[in-house]
Amino acid sequence: MIKIPENIFSEIIEHSKNDYPIEACGYLVGNDDTVIDIIRMTNVDKSNEHFTFDPKEQFQALKYARSKGANLIAVYHSHPNTPARMSQEDIKFANDTTMKYLIYSVSEGKLKCFSVDKEKKVTEVEIAVI
Ligand SMILES: [Zn+2]
Repeated sequence: MIKIPENIFSEIIEHSKNDYPIEACGYLVGNDDTVIDIIRMTNVDKSNEHFTFDPKEQFQALKYARSKGANLIAVYHSHPNTPARMSQEDIKFANDTTMKYLIYSVSEGKLKCFSVDKEKKVTEVEIAVI
């Protein structure tokens, strides 16, 4: 389960729609399974099929989370024109088993959350809007 405040849930969707047709991406800051903040990131690929974070922004994001006494608990990105599920590439790059991965499909209007274990098995995680 991941608990997301309503305004942050809305911001993921807004960010995804704003960046369309490019994939939007960012981090969710929180403790355990509760999200407290969102950090919009730059997709340096500027692609509609994949995203890459800017390493400098990643470092700043981590510093910001720690300054709040929290962690980066989830990565979100959008799928402009494909369903809200982990692509082969998403699974390949999902190397942190403690991280949750959210995907918002702009074409479907759906937000889903996943975790990926060491064997690259994908499990859907329930989203609770709080
Ligand atoms: Zn993806």
